[in-house]
Amino acid sequence: MSKLLDRTPLSPTADLKRAGLKVTLPRLKILEILENAEQHHLSAEDVYKALLAEDTEIGLATVYRVLTQFETAGLVTRHRFDSGQALFELDTGDSHDHIICIKSGMVAEFKDEKLEARLREIADELGYELKDHSIVLYGVHREVDA
Ligand SMILES: [Zn+2]
Repeated sequence: MSKLLDRTPLSPTADLKRAGLKVTLPRLKILEILENAEQHHLSAEDVYKALLAEDTEIGLATVYRVLTQFETAGLVTRHRFDSGQALFELDTGDSHDHIICIKSGMVAEFKDEKLEARLREIADELGYELKDHSIVLYGVHREVDA
């Protein structure tokens, strides 16, 4: 049975330092948004809007720049799903796959041991040792379709 993952927030300051980044206000704020967001797959614009909502004025260009720095530092992963704009999520070191609602754009995560075992088998049959995989399912969530 596949189950959706949940995760616990980390400490933004500690994470910046561990990633070798100087602690600056924009970095701290943006990391906080990423760590506390209920929907943790966010576009740069989502981050920008979340900052505005808490009266933090950080320009969209800065948000992009910081997210790219985070990506380079290994703090976040950038996804380019078919649904459109790039989405960023914290890289917590777990490997998981994604399912996306093509009507609402909602992104959920899942992990499935049987699927992963099967992928290793397939790779093995083809003469590979599996190192990584990326699976994105596209569907319509029943609550959206109702
Ligand atoms: Zn994810």
